[in-house]
Amino acid sequence: VRILAYESSCDETSTAVIKNGRDIESLIVATQIKSHQRFGGVVPEVASRHHIEVISQITKEALSEANCTWKDIDAIAVTYGPGLVGALLIGVSAAKAASMATGIPLIGVDHIMGHIMAAQLKDEIEYPALALQVSGGHTEIVLLKDPVHFEIIGDTRDDAAGEAYDKIGRVLGVNYPAGKTIDAWAHEGKDTFNFPRAMMEDDDYDFSFSGLKSAFINTCHHADQIHEKLNKYDLAASFQAAVIDVLAHKTIRAIKQYKPKTFIMGGGVAANHGLRDRMSAEIAKLPKQDQPKVILPDIKLCGDNAAMIGAVAYNLYNDGQFADLTLNADPSLELPYAKSMLN
Ligand code: ATP
Ligand code: MG
Ligand code: FE
Repeated sequence: VRILAYESSCDETSTAVIKNGRDIESLIVATQIKSHQRFGGVVPEVASRHHIEVISQITKEALSEANCTWKDIDAIAVTYGPGLVGALLIGVSAAKAASMATGIPLIGVDHIMGHIMAAQLKDEIEYPALALQVSGGHTEIVLLKDPVHFEIIGDTRDDAAGEAYDKIGRVLGVNYPAGKTIDAWAHEGKDTFNFPRAMMEDDDYDFSFSGLKSAFINTCHHADQIHEKLNKYDLAASFQAAVIDVLAHKTIRAIKQYKPKTFIMGGGVAANHGLRDRMSAEIAKLPKQDQPKVILPDIKLCGDNAAMIGAVAYNLYNDGQFADLTLNADPSLELPYAKSMLN
């Protein structure tokens, strides 16, 4: 089964050809980061315009790099949410137009399922699996019963982890998106500031990062006022240690409770070296029989890309979940919450 996939939910326009949900035959990612950097974040109208400019071209490129024509494609997949509505609409319209013109079936994909399924491009996922999904807009612990049934068991109450990185990055004068630079700085510094670790001892799987962000910003402002110069490497290391402590603590507790066969990380923040190392180390400390197989997606597949959308679409294809031409962008699409959480 060969799937042509589209992703345009935020500031990357991407197309890919994926075979059997595993093999990347082509992947094109057109990033717009430079256009948004001078505004310190993604400007929706600018994003939509860039998506329109490149989408036809990168559709052709994805097919030609995979040595394919439309005749070789079994399904066309597209991210229809969550994300910026104007940005999503460009991908959805392109995919619908291609499906209508060629008669190839259409599949709508949840962007967050995409981040989680980046792992499937690396190794075989054994179910049930548990995912730590950490990105610019989401921080969730997700239970995967099988390739198409996912349930959120923990969620952030306020800021997402990536969002917190980007906001404290701004205070340190780091360009958007700041995560990668803060991660690199953290490795040069020490955890000397002892920032708060919110909700660590609560007996749920939820997160909160706005208190940490405020503590960080107050520390920097206070130092400014008294003309004290703080070490940016230590600041980065202290912030990152607080984020990772909370993510690791809650995720390990969830692994102990749910005993998944596979542990997955996904999303832009899953590229974080400190987090990857820490999660692997914590899992290695569990008793042998309780250790899930660990799949950390390739760093370049942690950020937004169409390959992960093709991976999800393959699972939906096997499950017979197709869309029709009424498919629409859903900017606030959400995975379901575990039933026990809704009581
Ligand atoms: P979502 O997927 O939730 O809709 P998004 O698509 O904007 O949001 P991604 O593109 O998945 O988010 O991830 C981008 C985020 O990842 C940014 O906040 C960025 O700072 C963060 N990030 C990237 N690399 C790293 C890293 N090495 N360490 C920490 N954060 C990182
Ligand atoms: Mg992005
Ligand atoms: Fe994303």
